[in-house]
Amino acid sequence: MNGKIGVTTENIFPVIKQFLYSDHEIFLRELVANAVDATQKMKALASSGDFQGELGDLKVEIELDEKEKVLKVIDRGIGMTEEEVDRYINQIAFSSAGEFLEKYKDQMGSIIGHFGLGFYSAFMVSKKVTIDTLSWKDGAKAVRWSCDGSPEYLMEDSDKEGRGTVITLYLDDDSAEYAAKGRIKALLEKYCKFMPVPIVFGKEQEWKDGAYHDTDKDQVINNLEPIWTRTPSDLKEEDYLNFYKALYPMHEDPLFHIHLNVDYPFTLTGVLYFPKIKERMAIEKNKIQLYCNQMFVTDHVDNIVPDFLTLLHGVIDSPDIPLNVSRSYLQSDANVKKISGYITKKVADRLEEIFKEERATFEEKWDNIKLFIEYGMLSDEKFCDRAMHFALVKNTDGKYFSLEDYKKAVEGEQTDKDKHVICLYATNADEQYPFIEAAKNKGYDVLLLDCELDSHWVNLLETKLENVRFARVDSDSTDNLIVKEEKKKPELSEDEKKALDDLFKPVLPTEFDWNVEADNLGENGEPVLITQNEFMRRYREMSAFGGGMNYFGKMPKNFTLKVNLEHPLVQKLRGEGDHDDLLHQLTDLALLANGMLKGKALADFITRSQKVVGDAFLK
Ligand code: ADP
Repeated sequence: MNGKIGVTTENIFPVIKQFLYSDHEIFLRELVANAVDATQKMKALASSGDFQGELGDLKVEIELDEKEKVLKVIDRGIGMTEEEVDRYINQIAFSSAGEFLEKYKDQMGSIIGHFGLGFYSAFMVSKKVTIDTLSWKDGAKAVRWSCDGSPEYLMEDSDKEGRGTVITLYLDDDSAEYAAKGRIKALLEKYCKFMPVPIVFGKEQEWKDGAYHDTDKDQVINNLEPIWTRTPSDLKEEDYLNFYKALYPMHEDPLFHIHLNVDYPFTLTGVLYFPKIKERMAIEKNKIQLYCNQMFVTDHVDNIVPDFLTLLHGVIDSPDIPLNVSRSYLQSDANVKKISGYITKKVADRLEEIFKEERATFEEKWDNIKLFIEYGMLSDEKFCDRAMHFALVKNTDGKYFSLEDYKKAVEGEQTDKDKHVICLYATNADEQYPFIEAAKNKGYDVLLLDCELDSHWVNLLETKLENVRFARVDSDSTDNLIVKEEKKKPELSEDEKKALDDLFKPVLPTEFDWNVEADNLGENGEPVLITQNEFMRRYREMSAFGGGMNYFGKMPKNFTLKVNLEHPLVQKLRGEGDHDDLLHQLTDLALLANGMLKGKALADFITRSQKVVGDAFLK
C-alpha cells in the first residue's frame, strides 16, 4: 500500500534536515527512547495481567553495520499494528509542521522529542528508514513501513518474527560519521547512560592471543538504577561518591551531596553535589545534567535552577519540566518556579543540617563552599534568610563563628559610642599585617574576608544584622576604628591646613589621590599613617566585580595620610628648619606599612635608612 504522510507541508524532510542541522545526533536518543517506552509499556501490561505470555529478554539492542552504513534499533516492546503505524507514524501529531518548525527552529533540539517528531528525526541522518514491527496483541500481523525521505511511504507485510520493533536506518552519505562504532557508543553513553532498560551495543570484548575478541556477553551501555532513582536510606556515602566519579571522572571528590526526592506538587528526583572549587574564578557552570525519566536532555539548566545553584554538579530528573518551549516562557512557568524554589530550599535544609550536626566537617569545608553560599545569599533573598543561620565567618586566627555567635563574641570590646558593633576585617593577612597586629594589641578580633564577593557580602550583612558595621583594619587608625567616645580633632586654620598639604603631598606617590588629615593619636601613636576610607574602597571593589557603580571604578584610588600632631617627630617637622630626610623617612615608613613603597622610592628609602642606622649606632 502506498500513501502520503499526513503533514500539510509538502515535504517535511528538507525542513527537518535544515533546521535540526546542529543537533543531528539526537536522532539516536529519540529512537532509543521510543524503544525504551515500548519496552516499559510491555512490562506494565505484564504486571497488570493484561499480557500473560513470555516477556523474554527485555533489552534494546543497537546494531551497526559500518560497511553498509546501516543502523538498527531493536526492541521487544509492545510493537505496533498496521492501524497503529498509520495513526502514530503516518499522521504526524500536529497539523502544520512547517509553520511550527519555522517558529521554533532555534530550540528544535529540545523540542523535537516532545511534539511527536521524535521518530522522524531519523531522517536527519538517513536516506531511507524502515520500521518492521509486530504488536503484542493476539492475532497481530507484522508490518513493514518504509520511506525514502519523500512524503510517500510504503506499507507492506513484514517477515519480522517475534514481538517488538526494528527501526532500520540507511545512513545517508552526509551522515557517514554515524557509521562508526566509536561514535555510536559515545552517543549512547551521552544520552542513554541511565535509561531504565538495558541498552546493548555489541558484545563485551576480551584480550586473547594478542587481540581483542567478542565474548558472548552483551555490552550493556547503561546503569539501569542510577542512585537518584533509589531510596536514600539504602545508599552509603560511598555510593554517592562513586556516582560522582562516574559522572565527572576528572574531578576532585565533592564536598557534600543532596538527594532530592519529591512527588508533590511535581515530580523531581536527583542528586546534587557541592564540587570542590580549586580556583575560585574558574568555576564551572553547567555541570548539572537534566534528565526526563532517565533520558538525558541537556546540561543547560539555567532558568530551571537558580543561578547560584548552577555552580553545583549532579543530576536532576523531572518529567514535569517543560522542555518544549522558549526560554522566556520557561522563566515564567509556574512549575519551573516551584521547582527552582524547592531545590533552593532543599539545599538550605541540607546545609543547615550539616551545620547543626556535623559542625567540624562544616567548618573544615567552609572555605570551599563560602563563595557559593555568599553568592546564593546575594542573589536569592529566601536563601539568604536561611543562610543567615548557618553562614560562618573566620577570624585571622583561623577560628570559625556563626554570625550570631560572632556578634556576641565581640560586642563587649567592639561596640562604639553609637551602640554599633564594629566587626573588623582584613582582606589580606600578609599585606595588612601591621594593622591586624595593632588591632589585636588593642584587644580587638579581626576577621579574614578574602573572597571576591566579600565587599558585596559585607554590605548585605550590614542590612541584615542589626546594629552591626564592618570596617577593614586599615580604614582608620586603630583608635578611630571603633570610636568609643567622641574625641576632638585638632582644629587647624586654613593656612595651617595648606601648610600641611604643601609639606606632605609632594612626597606621596602620584598615582593615587591623597587627602592629608591632621589627627591627635597621642605621643606614642604613629607619627603618620595611611588609611583608606571603608566605603569608598568597598564601592570601588563592588563596581570592579560588576556591581554597576562604575563611577567609583574609574576614579583613582583614594587614600588618607593621617598626620599625628601630638607626635614629637611631627612637631619637629612642622617647626623651623630643613627636615627633608625626616619627612621622607616618616612618609616612606607609612607607605611601607601599606605595601606601597616600590621601585626607586624603595631604593631611596633603603639608602636613607642605612644612613640613619649608621648615624644612630656609630655615634
Ligand atoms: P513520541 O515518541 O514523542 O510520541 P514519535 O514520533 O517518536 O513521537 O513516535 C510516535 C509514536 O509512535 C509513539 O508515541 C509510539 O506510539 C509509536 N512508536 C514509535 N516508536 C515505537 C516503537 N519502537 N515501538 C512501539 N511504538 C513506537
